Amino acid sequence: MVMGGRSLTLRVSRSGRGAGSFGRVTAVAVQARPRLVASSTSVVVYADVVGVEVQLALEVPPGASSPPLGVDRMVMRIHDLSSLGPDADAVVDGAVAAGITPLLPVLTVAASALGVDLVLDGPVCPTALAGARAANHLAAEWFGDPVITIEATAALDTPAVPQRSMGRGLLFTRGVDSTAVLLTMEAAGHAPTHLISMDWVDPPYAGDTQASVWRATAAAAAERDLPLVRITTDARHLLDPLVEWERAFVPVLAGPSLALAGILRSVGVSSTYAVGNPDAYGSHEALDPLWSSAAVAIEHRTDVPGDRTARAAVVLGDRWALRWLQVCWEHPEEGNCGRCRKCLRTMSELWVAGADEADLAAFRAPLRTDAVRALREDEPHPYPRNGLELVARLRSVVAGGAPVSPVARGADASERAFAAELLAAWEEVLHLDPDPQHIAGRSGRPPIVGA
Ligand SMILES: [Zn+2]
Repeated sequence: MVMGGRSLTLRVSRSGRGAGSFGRVTAVAVQARPRLVASSTSVVVYADVVGVEVQLALEVPPGASSPPLGVDRMVMRIHDLSSLGPDADAVVDGAVAAGITPLLPVLTVAASALGVDLVLDGPVCPTALAGARAANHLAAEWFGDPVITIEATAALDTPAVPQRSMGRGLLFTRGVDSTAVLLTMEAAGHAPTHLISMDWVDPPYAGDTQASVWRATAAAAAERDLPLVRITTDARHLLDPLVEWERAFVPVLAGPSLALAGILRSVGVSSTYAVGNPDAYGSHEALDPLWSSAAVAIEHRTDVPGDRTARAAVVLGDRWALRWLQVCWEHPEEGNCGRCRKCLRTMSELWVAGADEADLAAFRAPLRTDAVRALREDEPHPYPRNGLELVARLRSVVAGGAPVSPVARGADASERAFAAELLAAWEEVLHLDPDPQHIAGRSGRPPIVGA
């Protein structure tokens, strides 16, 4: 709680999880703690864009200390309003009504990582505020963040906008996960009404080649006959120095979609991992819904059961998906380098799923085991569980194990031989002992206790 700018630190000792066991609450100390103040804000509409902006100030009381913030403002924008046709007015109304709620997820992660209290000097959705507090508690349990206070000076009336908005949005990057979820939603007869995608016109991806990436995303959405909402934000200025991208990407991508309350009731975040994943991670079935507002539900979508190879198999079954696949972030330009870790893992997964060379035409270099071995071994592997699951798949192919439908590799000896080479390369890069017993527990993330 914030008391005249000073924080009262409460320590809660819990004796158990049973009903009525709320533990003993003891006031330990009144201690000055820095606070991050995000102050209101302008929701500005100019030309074809609506933007939500906050001023940021880190207030450090005498005797306390905090790392510098690095930025003094943050903005998110929805572009190309005219492309949304009759929905454009509803988008503007919804964005205005949402106040600074769309920036709350990013601000929460920033304050949580800094260990400073968060004060929102502007209108915020109470549902989102409660979710942000719960997300901080989860981050304390999973990542060791301090528990902070998050307070708002003004609550929004909810729901923020009249419910003309019935749309289902899907965050769409053209990667394996969001593409597989899109195709599976379509096949199940509940296709998203809108795709939402980030155009990285702000650092660190801003550059001459970004326009070509966006043109391709727009072309892909047009071919699929789905409206595409173009969002941008400079939130990475604030977050990149504070947390790894694996923790930041859902708040950065999903937060701005809370401004789309005028047209959407829900926005899907495609799961990185399979249902029931025990690892603490920045996108998780327990965490993603906490970023919801009263008007827009953020949904953690696990439409494709199983691992990333299963999702790659869905992508492999669709020519449109293969053609527009974009997984490479090492080289920020349209297409995929075929030589970075993400490209090579994706190509390996597609190969296990049955891809031939022509299927991998979206990659500028062919799948080679020496390219896998050339990956820097000392570099921590992002998405560690996906790497382990690929290794498990390759081991199954090598052993002649029954392919898991629709994954169909390993029918003949030459395929099994290549799988063995690829397996050895990935085991080396992932520092895995070839003994399968060593797979368990090598996730590189703390397990979630009690989840
Ligand atoms: Zn690449």
